[in-house]
Amino acid sequence: MASRQRRVGCIVDGGHTDMGRKIENLRQIAERSGVFIVGSGGYYMDRSYPPEIAAKSEDQIANELAQEATSQHLGAFGEIGADPNEPELTPAERKVFRAVGKAHLRTNLPIFTHNAYGTGPNVPKEAGLRQLDVLESVGVKPEHVAIGHCDSLVDPSADLIKQVAKRGAWVGFEFARGGSLRPTKSESAPFWRSSTPGTRIACFYPRITPAAGRSICLRTVG
Ligand SMILES: [Zn+2]
Repeated sequence: MASRQRRVGCIVDGGHTDMGRKIENLRQIAERSGVFIVGSGGYYMDRSYPPEIAAKSEDQIANELAQEATSQHLGAFGEIGADPNEPELTPAERKVFRAVGKAHLRTNLPIFTHNAYGTGPNVPKEAGLRQLDVLESVGVKPEHVAIGHCDSLVDPSADLIKQVAKRGAWVGFEFARGGSLRPTKSESAPFWRSSTPGTRIACFYPRITPAAGRSICLRTVG
């Protein structure tokens, strides 16, 4: 009830079965708290995939994901991600990304990704764009995709964010309120460093709107 009283109306859960998510637990949490919870489908990253993923084809995985989404009344596919500190998607991750894209085409559920920005030196700036490439390769339109954790990349020029927005996808920006989680990296630009709640979003908005070519609706939570 506390969450409801604090005006949290809905949570999109980014877990799925390979992360230990149990849909019944979400149901109970929703009932007890009064907060709506949207469940998601998919697979997280190579190191968390169940062993049978290796033997399944892209289309098999897509069929199963679409069926699961329908039978469990899921509302999204995500987080769909990549192992930390790897320079590119593994072959299995590429297969899963394409399968999720195909499952999206059948269900029209949005997709949100996880990428490994901030977890090691081998993660290229373009990682989010390559995720979008793979999803688009099976026909997913960028407007149905959110590229996750874009704000975790040390990118003072905001180049990655601009490119994601220019292609028409959504920019995942989880730490927009500032605070103590991200701002202390010595290599971060002032754009990212402010610890004053709201400051980073105020810096972010004027940069991203021209890049997207349209006005963007931003809402803060909390
Ligand atoms: Zn993530």
